[in-house]
Amino acid sequence: MQFPIYLDYNATTPCDPQVVEAMLPYFTTQFGNAASRQHALGWQAEEAVDYARQQVAALIGADPTEIVFTSGATESNNLALKGVAEMYAAKGNHLITCVTEHKAVLDACKHLEKQGASVTYLPVNSEGLIDLQQLEAAITPATILIAIMYANNETGVIQPVQAIGRIAKKHNVIFFSDATQAVGKIPVQVISDEIDLMSFSAHKLYGPKGVGALYIRRKNPRVRLTAQIDGGGHERGMRSGTLNVPGIVGLGKAAELCRLTLEHERIRMAHLRDQLENALLQLKGVQVNGNRQHRLPQVSNLAFAQVEGNALMLGFNKQIAVATGSACTSASMEPSFVLKALGLQDEMARSSLRFSLGRFTTEEEITYTIEKVTETVQSLRALNPFVG
Ligand SMILES: *Cc1c(COP(=O)(O)O)cnc(C)c1O
Repeated sequence: MQFPIYLDYNATTPCDPQVVEAMLPYFTTQFGNAASRQHALGWQAEEAVDYARQQVAALIGADPTEIVFTSGATESNNLALKGVAEMYAAKGNHLITCVTEHKAVLDACKHLEKQGASVTYLPVNSEGLIDLQQLEAAITPATILIAIMYANNETGVIQPVQAIGRIAKKHNVIFFSDATQAVGKIPVQVISDEIDLMSFSAHKLYGPKGVGALYIRRKNPRVRLTAQIDGGGHERGMRSGTLNVPGIVGLGKAAELCRLTLEHERIRMAHLRDQLENALLQLKGVQVNGNRQHRLPQVSNLAFAQVEGNALMLGFNKQIAVATGSACTSASMEPSFVLKALGLQDEMARSSLRFSLGRFTTEEEITYTIEKVTETVQSLRALNPFVG
């Protein structure tokens, strides 16, 4: 076993060795610019990008022409939100999102508010789910976009995406979903899920960092966006800039590997996750944060009453890499806004750990983690005179 045991796959994943292998030629011998139309190096690069576009589209049931490559999900989220707000400004200026979205969505919404947009931030219930009636009631004639994530990065909770898509369609509103945590982990299909715009990122699905994609529906309805980066008109004018060919090839290969292993992996993940979770729930004062049924198979977010997440991390002695209840605002010690939105008190949020498993997680690692966490929780509680 190698230490630390990595259980932070929701933060980032290692590149699959097959992904690295696929990328390598595009750094050296096949270094062409995909926009060079005059010679073979350019054509080869363009061909590689086209192939990756097919691989990515196949994973989510899209047409290759509906995929725009970006630098990652942060950029895709910004392009979706700002691009729609700008393009449909004449129709209206109201957006609907949710309080547990990723910062890349929330901060882009704040930016739009400063420019005069009005944004409804839907609450979530104690299990992290939005209320569909509340969503529908929030729609006004000025609503141009509903932005609800597919699955939450901290809790793994999956929103009722299909139902949201149907409501959006009924009211003629565009539905955008940040599916960065869901794509490659569970079956995500843009047609049956009725999604119009969708973000995802290579480094969350065993591809390289700094590359991602935005799915943009081309029919029923045809979604239009105002580009946020102007230049040479790459990506059908929606995202200028010389294409990151090695990165895009890596995303394509990563998408293909996910498509081929998804069914097997999601069962393996759920099995290992449940093993970990059920063992840790044997301890007193442990609770699962978020809905347990509508949840990604690889995530378990647990609160350990009366034990600080940071004390647990110290107790693990650098042997286990997980995220604490201050994840994603980790520069500060603020308790997670996602957990607080579920109604957790600051203390319980700070007592929470997010375990996220992945492709290279083994049964042996889970067994070791169960022992180490159990032992650490028990010894910390033995030090605390207020816990029985
Ligand atoms: C990781 C993540 C992002 C940001 O993706 P980058 O590619 O790192 O910019 C956005 N949304 C969610 C839900 C994420 O988990």
